[in-house]
Amino acid sequence: MTQQTSKAAFLPVAEPNLSDLERRYAHEAIDSGWVSSLGPFIERFEKGFAALSGAEHCVAVSNGTVAIHLALVAARIGQGDEVIVPDLTFAATAAAVVHAGAMPVLVDVDPKTWCIDPALVASAVTPRTKAILAVHLFGHPAHMTALRDVARRHGLLLIEDAAEAHGAKFDGRPVGGLGDMACFSFYGNKLITTGEGGAVTTGDAALAKRLRFLKDHAMSPERRYFHPEVGFNYRMTNIQAAIGTAQIERFPEMLAAKQAVLARYRAAFARVVPDVVLNPVVPPAEPVCWMVSALLPGAWDEARQRALMSLLKSEHQVDSRPFFVPMSELTPYAGCRVVRGGTDVSRDLSRRGVCLPSSSALTEADVERVAHAVGDAIERSARR
Ligand SMILES: *Cc1c(COP(=O)(O)O)cnc(C)c1O
Repeated sequence: MTQQTSKAAFLPVAEPNLSDLERRYAHEAIDSGWVSSLGPFIERFEKGFAALSGAEHCVAVSNGTVAIHLALVAARIGQGDEVIVPDLTFAATAAAVVHAGAMPVLVDVDPKTWCIDPALVASAVTPRTKAILAVHLFGHPAHMTALRDVARRHGLLLIEDAAEAHGAKFDGRPVGGLGDMACFSFYGNKLITTGEGGAVTTGDAALAKRLRFLKDHAMSPERRYFHPEVGFNYRMTNIQAAIGTAQIERFPEMLAAKQAVLARYRAAFARVVPDVVLNPVVPPAEPVCWMVSALLPGAWDEARQRALMSLLKSEHQVDSRPFFVPMSELTPYAGCRVVRGGTDVSRDLSRRGVCLPSSSALTEADVERVAHAVGDAIERSARR
């Protein structure tokens, strides 16, 4: 899927890593006639992904947002309940809480990991709190040991939003099996893609059974067309699962290619723009590289960030994305309680952060070009 023709070719932020294997399995699914949500690839994909994420059970669904919604509904979280989420995340995390009828409580992130700050989580708990929904932002796992302690102390459910962190580990164990449930996305720019897709993993057999029941119209397994609850159609198709099965088989190689790209970035940036901080690594977390994420030095506001990104594109043919806008700055979440310490870390990171071309097809020369482009754009954006 690489589009590099010359040195000055446009470098997109993300490209899916697809091969003949994905094509072959997708054809196999079509040729078999199993194009909808029954078929052998669903089980193959679920088994493979459960193994990859160190969880007993995997329930494939249609996307990452509904994975979170389904997990909350399965846990009977809804009206009148509060769910703790990080202020700095992709909006789907908070939106799914609202879809479930519950209230997101926005907690600031740790400046070192960019993930939810466990100390602040403890002070955000009220009698209405039902769950902590921790996000492994940009591939860096949240501090799951500290979060599990808080969850246990207050009787809360701990759910991982691992949409950006397939294959990452914390304390030697893969994300996906570190809480009560974990939610994944297989969108086109994620580390594993099925086009659109998602999954919930869990070690709890009863929860897994309930997730399967709810995602398939909440129809009784004993009596056809008998629905004891309002259900959903959140099923994944066999064609999507076919693509995903190929991705799982290729995952070690795909992940290594992404890590190699980040290593090239670290080497080039250390020489060319040493003040720029790249993806954090805070043990015992073992992050993966979803997006190459850069924190720029100096004073940044939205205007300068925008200027930098437009310079990267127009002068250097380098695509970029700002970090997420904190939930506390978005209208739909204006009524949510916000818990932060002395400074607004989410806001600072969101203004200083940009995601850079992260395709595993990037060469050493491409990365060198990005490093010089970033250096140039930092300088020029300061003069505006
Ligand atoms: C991508 C993403 C989601 C949503 O996944 P979709 O498959 O796009 O619905 C949820 N949370 C985070 C943190 C994400 O990055």
